[in-house]
Amino acid sequence: MRATYLKIITLILVFLLAGNSYVALTQGSSGHRAHGLDFAGMDKSVNPADDFFDYCNGEWLKKTAIPNDRSSYGTFDILAEQANKQTSDLIMEASKSPRGSEASKVGDFYDAFMDEKAIEAKGLSPLKVELDEINAIGDKKALAHVFGSELRADVDPLNNTNFYTDRLFGLWVSPDFDNPTKNVPYMLQGGLGMPDSDTYLGTEANSVELQTKYRAHIAAVLKLAKVEGVDAQADRIYELERKIASIHVNRADSADVLKANNPWRLADFSSKAAGLDWPAFFEAAGLAKQPMIMVWHPGGITGEAALVGSQPLDVWKEYLRFHAIDRAAGLLPKAFADERFNFYGRALSGIPQQSERWKRGVRATSNALGDAVGQLYVKHYFSPQAKATVQTMVKNIVVAFGHRIDNLEWMSPATRAKAKAKLDTLYIGVGYPEHWRDYAGLKIVRDDPLGNAQRTSLFDYRASLAKLNKPVDKSEWWMTPQTVNAVNLPLQNALNFPAAILRPPFFDMEADPAQNYGGIGATIGHEISHSFDDQGSQFDAQGRLQNWWTAQDLAHFRESADRLAAQFDAYEPLPGVHVNGKLTLSENIADLAGVSAAYDGLRLAFGGKPAPDSEGFTGDQRFFVAFGQIWRGKQRPEAMRLQLATDGHAPDEYRADTVRNVDGWYGAFNIRPGGKLYLAPDARVRVW
Ligand SMILES: [Zn+2]
Repeated sequence: MRATYLKIITLILVFLLAGNSYVALTQGSSGHRAHGLDFAGMDKSVNPADDFFDYCNGEWLKKTAIPNDRSSYGTFDILAEQANKQTSDLIMEASKSPRGSEASKVGDFYDAFMDEKAIEAKGLSPLKVELDEINAIGDKKALAHVFGSELRADVDPLNNTNFYTDRLFGLWVSPDFDNPTKNVPYMLQGGLGMPDSDTYLGTEANSVELQTKYRAHIAAVLKLAKVEGVDAQADRIYELERKIASIHVNRADSADVLKANNPWRLADFSSKAAGLDWPAFFEAAGLAKQPMIMVWHPGGITGEAALVGSQPLDVWKEYLRFHAIDRAAGLLPKAFADERFNFYGRALSGIPQQSERWKRGVRATSNALGDAVGQLYVKHYFSPQAKATVQTMVKNIVVAFGHRIDNLEWMSPATRAKAKAKLDTLYIGVGYPEHWRDYAGLKIVRDDPLGNAQRTSLFDYRASLAKLNKPVDKSEWWMTPQTVNAVNLPLQNALNFPAAILRPPFFDMEADPAQNYGGIGATIGHEISHSFDDQGSQFDAQGRLQNWWTAQDLAHFRESADRLAAQFDAYEPLPGVHVNGKLTLSENIADLAGVSAAYDGLRLAFGGKPAPDSEGFTGDQRFFVAFGQIWRGKQRPEAMRLQLATDGHAPDEYRADTVRNVDGWYGAFNIRPGGKLYLAPDARVRVW
């Protein structure tokens, strides 16, 4: 998939982060690093031609263990940990802010989350209103009403590639595929407790084990809630979810935007997706006055509506009760939070130990009040000089990318003109958004942590609905400044580079340009490339879903892309489990294009000459080592398996090794035939 740079929105984080579950996973121990390249972390005994990843990171890999509260550890985690520590300090400070100020909401949200004694004392009572509402459902119309009232803006299929919600459906408000000057509601399938349909339907040992553990998790939650007839009920809930899984659109089809462009008039839902009382659903969801809804998963929504019609009301009520409790688990007494971690953290992601509560509190707060925390963050940690320097790099890399487009022999003049137009209208946000979200109207109470989370998610939902009546803001951000990631927004023809990724080793005001271009420069190039790749080519300069490539151009592009897919298919991170070259293709193209454009951008920064030598390395070597070091990381096998199956990003090691396709790398390290990564010039993949 396109969009994000790193695998931050893996399902692991989605499950353990606020939004779907209200609860946050956090980051472990510290790992600060001084300025400059990490020479001590390299293994210079390794020949870069054989294993470039190890050459750049070998010593670090040898001496680093994955902390117990994590499924993986690397550059991203270390940076996220720093951002977490920084936001933690800011949140503590915010507790002292004047009552009623936005900062005081930040402090109160966190304080409420941290008051474990009060949470323990209240038991399940904070859920009473929601559970009473479910218990009172008397017919399928009332059931539809509850489903509608529970709809949230908790998915983002395009920008953050988050297709997951445990609610019946998910909603996303974004510019219309066919008319990007107006916002429309997109509706996605949902309703599963496990990551995706494959986990329910798989017959291999690993899937079967997870199925058993998930069913046990349902029973454990019901038991904690003192429900009667736990085992039979867990079986019914599991079986209902398995039925939902069996009609779900799979992950690969979910990622295909051409299959998602299905505008349905509201009046058509009852005939196209019979079984659910749609008027009651839309009324409760606040969508009844919308002229249309873009149905992302017609098959999933039709199938789920049919199940609402065919499956017994009582089973749906059991299902709703279970999910209400499990979703809130992190803000319920410890036994509930521990059980949720036991399945989603331990079983699904292989994380041995839940992170400390304060860390979860920081992430939950930062997630719930993203822009309020973000404002505090950039004020303290992102200077105007840093912003200006990155903007200059952006200009050079955009120019470099333009030259690459100009020089593509196979691209037709018509396609080239459209590509250049798209580059000209690209909006690139650096550090933080131009307009901050306003949290006036959101009630945060110091002794009501679950209520705070519920009100925040409703507030977000209403804010999304409010966008339906406003003009599209092309400069709207889809990541908070304290997020360590970057993102491409196809419908806005825009990119976001949050402040928290504009830090070492990606970017350092005190580092030389070679290092910064190899780090954040490659990231910038990566995101730009997404605007022009197999998926970016489906959106024009205005963000409209409209292919602007000629068939011949696309054929040329695909030919190179297929060769890159084959290169990645050959990698085997776990015995017998290979990287899926097709699933990771867009990201692998973007990595290759990104490092290539950043390399050119570095030349431009020095008037066409190579970057100067320093610390015993040439400028080119420093550039590539910086690139190799941003990918350092290691992963538990469970998390690796989940990533290989569901994530559009290849494992870090192979992302670093993509330098084998770049001519400059061969010159920089004097790479000769015989090295394991060596590719003859005509075997190197050149997409751009
Ligand atoms: Zn990407």
